[in-house]
Amino acid sequence: MAQLIDPFARAISYLRVSVTDRCDFRCTYCMSEHMTFLPKADLLSLEELDRLCTTFIGMGVEKLRITGGEPLVRKGILTFFEAMSRHLTTGALKELTLTTNGSQLAKFVEPLAALGIKRINVSLDTLNPEKFARITRWGRLPQVLDGILAAQTAGLKVKINAVALKGFNEDELFTLTEWCAIEGHGLTFIEVMPMGDMAEATRLDQYWPLKDLRARLAERYTLTDLAERTGGPARYVRLEETGQKIGFITPLTHNFCESCNRVRLTCTGELYMCLGQEDMADLRAPLRANADDTILKTAIRAAIARKPKGHDFDYSRQQVTGQMPRHMSHTGG
Ligand code: SF4
Repeated sequence: MAQLIDPFARAISYLRVSVTDRCDFRCTYCMSEHMTFLPKADLLSLEELDRLCTTFIGMGVEKLRITGGEPLVRKGILTFFEAMSRHLTTGALKELTLTTNGSQLAKFVEPLAALGIKRINVSLDTLNPEKFARITRWGRLPQVLDGILAAQTAGLKVKINAVALKGFNEDELFTLTEWCAIEGHGLTFIEVMPMGDMAEATRLDQYWPLKDLRARLAERYTLTDLAERTGGPARYVRLEETGQKIGFITPLTHNFCESCNRVRLTCTGELYMCLGQEDMADLRAPLRANADDTILKTAIRAAIARKPKGHDFDYSRQQVTGQMPRHMSHTGG
């Protein structure tokens, strides 16, 4: 089947799939404490997600990143990973990965590793248990650290995604960096913009531009810019003293647009063609319209034909669509 190519000659090879809007944490910058989640009928079933992802893989998607909410709280999620792993076996899919808050990792990591998952992103903003409990409201740090350890033990590469928050984890910049160096984890910092549908009024005070964070890092380490590109918004440096690679993701970045290889699917079957624009295509209706995939494929091609050349990042929209700051940024993976 012909590869999906957008109007700007970019091959679409990366699909991020949110499998649930639910989460077992309530991070202050992401959700309110008392969330109303989507009705079940609106969500794609695991079988529908399988069909949709399989169709994309048949059209040239080689990398699948599973996200949420928290993907591992979706009931029966292992059957979905199992279904996707068949595409790893055939070689059609080069990588199957996920972004998680780590809470369920200890339970799931062994089966995930057995299914061919080789690396994961874990969202973790602080190594201080009290601060962790405060920012995630419902999360407990030891549980996440146990999960990360279990992932390492199972042979998975771990990348930590930390949201940079002024006055919150500013003082942990070096602690986090050193911990990742010792543990052998990758580390990416994510900038959040001081706007949008804020869960906390304090957000404005928490804006910590990554250029400032980077300057702080440079006080202690020698930073070498790396040319490496992932087709996403992350930029990387190497810390010469430790050899670590550190990523930076700024939501306003749009200089990766020309090499953008990705699209994003929500758990209700909406396909967002650009990270920073609100245009989306509903794939649930064509998916449910017919057991045959012809209508679905036509809808996918029509959507990709609308993929814009670039974006002016409308961050507030990302909030409205329920796509959280750090999960949005997982595009960097
Ligand atoms: S940021 Fe991630 S871990 Fe926190 S509430 Fe949102 S989905 Fe859950």
